[in-house]
Amino acid sequence: EVKKGGKNGFQFYSHELNSQMEEKIKLEADLRKALSFNEFFLHYQPQVCSENNRLIGVEALVRWQHPTRGIVAPNIFIPIAEETGIIYEFGNWVLREACRQMKEWQMAGGAFIPISVNLSAQQFYQANLGQYILSILEETGLEPKYLKLEITESMMMDSNLSNQILKELSEFGIQLSLDDFGTGYSSLSYLKMLPINQLKIDRSFIKDLTNNPNDKAIVATIVSMAKHLQMDVIAEGIEEKEQLDILKENNCFNIQGYYYSKPLPANEFEIAFLST
Ligand code: C2E
Ligand code: MG
Ligand code: MG
Ligand code: MG
Repeated sequence: EVKKGGKNGFQFYSHELNSQMEEKIKLEADLRKALSFNEFFLHYQPQVCSENNRLIGVEALVRWQHPTRGIVAPNIFIPIAEETGIIYEFGNWVLREACRQMKEWQMAGGAFIPISVNLSAQQFYQANLGQYILSILEETGLEPKYLKLEITESMMMDSNLSNQILKELSEFGIQLSLDDFGTGYSSLSYLKMLPINQLKIDRSFIKDLTNNPNDKAIVATIVSMAKHLQMDVIAEGIEEKEQLDILKENNCFNIQGYYYSKPLPANEFEIAFLST
């Protein structure tokens, strides 16, 4: 929007756009300091088998405790971290912290389950990502099979690069999960080629699952495809018993969602899911 304004001619942005940009620039500046000020922390959401209510995994989800704004959600700040390149250092911090925490839980006698960590597309372009992750595993003492990396369809489709990296990670014994499955543009031929261990059915198919027969059909199809490709399947965003029941009817037993628990701080997760 071009507006006449100011003393000396034209102002090329509306006030709203201007303040949006200012807002972003401020967040960006704060984000640069956030790592060194220890403002990031992880929440942990359980993944449960609905047949026996056993804990089968946990997803680490990052939070930013901003000094004045309170907690900022990842959907707000991760895109900024990606644009500014902060994502590399940040992503490494998340990986290390998640592995460290899982090892600590294992040493305390519980939780021999994988921890899922979200990877940003840009981390894929980090030189030697595979070696770097290996060094984190060595440093923290976590066995590779207890780390599950969540990638998205667009990352998988990024040709040769993903091919190589995913193969390398998988050969190390690290597990790979395809997050938000069904919302991206994946070609089924990639699914066949790449060493993916798990499909994670996106919440958008779960939300109206109880009323929408199309969602039901999609869920049933994903479950069946995963089975035939010898992959695990998990559904995310389950909030209600009715959704859980439909998933059970369709042989999807691995569940992540508010129905079992919201993502929790480490100590609360421990009390609710790891103490016996
Ligand atoms: P995601 O990986 O698909 O994570 C699932 C999101 O759904 C989480 O939001 C979780 O809190 C939310 N969720 C889980 N169960 C339910 C439910 O039953 N109902 C509803 N309404 N929501 C549910 P969150 O924590 O805000 O994270 C949003 C996204 O930010 C994540 O989506 C992921 O793409 C990204 N993200 C989070 N942590 C990290 C990280 O450490 N690194 C990177 N690169 N991305 C991250
Ligand atoms: Mg995820
Ligand atoms: Mg997801
Ligand atoms: Mg996601």
